[in-house]
This record gives sequence, structure tokens and C-alpha cells, in this order.
Amino acid sequence: MTAQNDFKKLVRDRMAKTGESYTSARAALFLKSGGHRKCKTCGSLYSPDEAASSWPHYFDAPYLYSQGVNDHCLACWLGVGPHDR
Ligand SMILES: [Zn+2]
Repeated sequence: MTAQNDFKKLVRDRMAKTGESYTSARAALFLKSGGHRKCKTCGSLYSPDEAASSWPHYFDAPYLYSQGVNDHCLACWLGVGPHDR
């Protein structure tokens, strides 16, 4: 079983236990896993570590996105999120 299938099973187990929708259960599990955060501006889930490791050349000092951002996804941090247009 792949990691993704494991995660889907966790989501389904949580849905059965809590009665949450798939989306809500998935969001709660992402947040619980610690790797993902919920953007306070647009509400989407994001992972600073994933973003920073995907584009390391964007994040040289002083732009330490992965260390400095607790509340905003990359798009909102860069000022191109859904509420910045
Ligand atoms: Zn955002």
C-alpha cells in the first residue's frame, strides 16, 4: 500500500468516526500531521517546507519563507493570493 493510499484510508476512518466530509477530514489530518498549515488569508493548506524545497533559489536569505511564515501560503506571502488580486 502506498503512502497516499494509507492517507486516504486514514481520511476514510476519520470520516466514519466523526461524520466529517472528505474535505474536512483531510484538512484536519493534514494539520494534525504537522507538515501542513492552513493559510489565514485564503484558507488553503500549504507546506512551507515543501514550497521552499521546491524552489530553493527563490528563498535565499533574507527571504526565508520556510522559517518565517506561519500564517500564509506562498501565494499570499508573495502577494499574489486570491485576496490580493
Ligand atoms: Zn493563502
